[in-house]
Amino acid sequence: MTSLTFHGGVGVIGGNKILLEDGGTRIFLDFGMSFDLKGSFYEEFLQPRTNSGLRDLMELGIVPKIDGIYRADLLKIEGIESVFEEIGCDDPSLWTSDIRSYDEVMEKEGKPFIHGVLLSHGHFDHFQGISFLDEKIPIYCSTITKAIIEAAVDLGKGGFENEFLSAKKRTLATLGGRSYFPGEYTIGSESRDREFRMLEEHQKIGNVEARSFPVDHSVPGAMAFLIKTSDGKTIVYTGDLRFHGVRSDLTEDFSASLRGLRPDALIIEGTRIDEDTPDSESAVKDECIDLIARTKGLAMVGFAWKDITRYQTMRAVAAETGRILVISPKLAYVINRLKGFEGLKIQALALEENVRVYLKRKERMLYSKGDYVKSKYDAGYSVDWKEKIDLEHFNEGIRAYQIKRDPSSYLLHLDFYDFNELIDLNPPQGSTYISASSEPFNLEMELDEERLKRWLRHFGINAPLHEPYYIHASGHASGPEIRKLIEDINPKLVFPVHTKHPELFVLPQGTRVVMPEVGKKYTV
Ligand SMILES: [Zn+2]
Repeated sequence: MTSLTFHGGVGVIGGNKILLEDGGTRIFLDFGMSFDLKGSFYEEFLQPRTNSGLRDLMELGIVPKIDGIYRADLLKIEGIESVFEEIGCDDPSLWTSDIRSYDEVMEKEGKPFIHGVLLSHGHFDHFQGISFLDEKIPIYCSTITKAIIEAAVDLGKGGFENEFLSAKKRTLATLGGRSYFPGEYTIGSESRDREFRMLEEHQKIGNVEARSFPVDHSVPGAMAFLIKTSDGKTIVYTGDLRFHGVRSDLTEDFSASLRGLRPDALIIEGTRIDEDTPDSESAVKDECIDLIARTKGLAMVGFAWKDITRYQTMRAVAAETGRILVISPKLAYVINRLKGFEGLKIQALALEENVRVYLKRKERMLYSKGDYVKSKYDAGYSVDWKEKIDLEHFNEGIRAYQIKRDPSSYLLHLDFYDFNELIDLNPPQGSTYISASSEPFNLEMELDEERLKRWLRHFGINAPLHEPYYIHASGHASGPEIRKLIEDINPKLVFPVHTKHPELFVLPQGTRVVMPEVGKKYTV
């Protein structure tokens, strides 16, 4: 018997966690974090407590309560009972959980509860939760997705929510002789590698076989899946996709391969089901060229550092308008990781005539080599604190004073979080800022947007209104494109996920739409 249980991605954008069961085989389709859900409780200065593990996130319903999948150390620290008496607390519920770990279930049943996670792509709302899973559960993904996850670890801030490649097992330890209180309890950690497996085109996991199809999305390496179960059921999972990026041919091929398939179930994303007009990446290019050709001062553009398509668009925009594209070191790092991957058409930055990397002032603000020890990727391509600093960007990068001297020669990739640079850049009258990432879709993003506008006003950018120019094509298909894809695949059941508007999935007769409820099991 085949069943599906939706533990996330229901009625919200992101956080997909879909459990597929086939007799004794269980796999998750993605295991992401819903930022809407997390942001409804937490903000920058109120974060889950690291050494409380999953207990905080589970209490608030941000992470589902499921036996047999999580790391034991995030549910309860081994041997913690032994200290209750000594620390004078007789309430073990502060440290324990009624959820059983992967190891506990493995020990009791003699087999793992779960056989793997199929990751569709390298966006946090689809993979961040793997950090909480036992490191022995294999993660299946494309080689590009793996490279993106590695870059996210290298450039990220660490912490138990970001242990994608290795899990730091928390242990009970005691403080050493050089501390204030030698012998007192503390939490130590030992690192364990997580098991990643590169997807084969026909991937067997337990009883199920997953065929993967590359699709176009706002991050490279995205996959959709056609899954066959042991009782002959077929299930299609789209992940996130679009028909308007530079590799729309991939999504078209996926759709063509599945035309008329009539699978038992289709799990489909509906981020933009409420939008009638298809987006276009080439329109982004044309609009940017038009605007920047008329810009007399500095041209600036904000977009996500994983969005390689947008980088390629901006590279073309810069070439067309006779400017040098200056990108953030994070984007440079990802490009360096992905250069040479088949089908991506990304080459090393050293080979790009009109692309350079921006060098920020850091630490003591002196442009001195020593200022980059804590954020090595700003100065070059090294990230490990033990490594020598690679000085590629330090030697070759473009600095604020160079741009200030000749602003009309540059198109600068500048995200809102780097707006302190505007103080050094002091853009002249007639400068332009383009917002080329998704429009705000939650309260926090709306507040940032207000701040962004204040910076634009302060520096006289985008006069006279000082509003950003929104020029963007999203990572997601529009309503008509989604309906057409459903019509082509012609499934018996449709489960809309990754959407705030599942009710807009109104389909012709012969296709039943099921609005999934969180945690409810659906037999296919
Ligand atoms: Zn995505």
